[in-house]
Amino acid sequence: MVTHSQTNTIDFDAAKLQRLGFSSNRTQSLRPVSLAQLRQQLSLQLQTSLDVERILGLFFREVQRLVPLGALSYQLAASDLRLDLGERASHSACYRLSHEGEYLGELTFRRGVRFAEEELGQLESLLASLLFPLRNALLYRNAMRSALRDTLTDTGNRLAMDQVLQREVDVARRTQQPLSLLMLDLDHFKRINDSFGHSTGDEVLKAIAATLKAQLRNIDMIFRFGGEEFLVVLSNTSREAAAMVGERLRHAVMDLQCLAQGRAIELSISLGCATLLPAESVDSVLRRADSALYAAKRDGRNRLAMAG
Ligand code: GH3
Ligand code: MG
Ligand code: MG
Repeated sequence: MVTHSQTNTIDFDAAKLQRLGFSSNRTQSLRPVSLAQLRQQLSLQLQTSLDVERILGLFFREVQRLVPLGALSYQLAASDLRLDLGERASHSACYRLSHEGEYLGELTFRRGVRFAEEELGQLESLLASLLFPLRNALLYRNAMRSALRDTLTDTGNRLAMDQVLQREVDVARRTQQPLSLLMLDLDHFKRINDSFGHSTGDEVLKAIAATLKAQLRNIDMIFRFGGEEFLVVLSNTSREAAAMVGERLRHAVMDLQCLAQGRAIELSISLGCATLLPAESVDSVLRRADSALYAAKRDGRNRLAMAG
């Protein structure tokens, strides 16, 4: 049965803002206000989103009703989160943000002219209304990220894989670019568990995942498919190029020096490679990669097989 579904999206943030009397009209919202008014408006407005980028964007825009700015940059150390809004300029005021002892990143205001003492006081006062919303957005971001990661290997989990695969298949179709998959499985992994114990097995699994990630351009595209199976999604990659990536991964695992209880463990992987066919579904291309992997195992392991 073919069903047709229609999705209506409501930009809740924008809708809620409008109800609160905030217009997205730039000139209107840039009307000057008093510090007290702006603080009050900001604290309502920033609560309307859990997206770090959006919150900082709103903050940057609204603060300028009181203090002219050229740029705002935000960085969360020990994380890949970094945002630059506006144009860089020579004068800056930098703040390390924390809330109840919890580090929330560094925020820098920049512009071409020096900040007056009074303006710095205003900025600090306005920053107070940013802390709670920013903290909530960071918590939400972390929760979302860990919901999509496999904790043992720090690769994407099945949920992430399903989302990315569907998205990449759609993109490949729209742009008519090739999309290839590598499904890979550790060879004789059960023996490692049997000989050295499960926790050594876990360590080996982690080491192999790290090796695979080190070989890949985009480490967000590797997923733990099952116990000791991974899927690598190679966007805009032809069949031939994917085979080369697969061979590179296979050699990297073979070259991995792994010692357990003083003994060297020989490691290898088998891989199946499939390239999306016109109008092919996610399930179908996955199935073909899996069959190719099965063929690689059957033909002796430690090899790559191409899907038919
Ligand atoms: P093959 O070359 O045919 O793939 O042999 P294999 O032994 O790797 O394959 P099989 O599927 O028979 O066994 C996979 C093993 O992987 C069984 C399971 O104990 C182990 N395994 C799966 N997930 C984990 C894990 O998270 N940690 C550890 N330590 N072992 C795991
Ligand atoms: Mg295996
Ligand atoms: Mg397996």
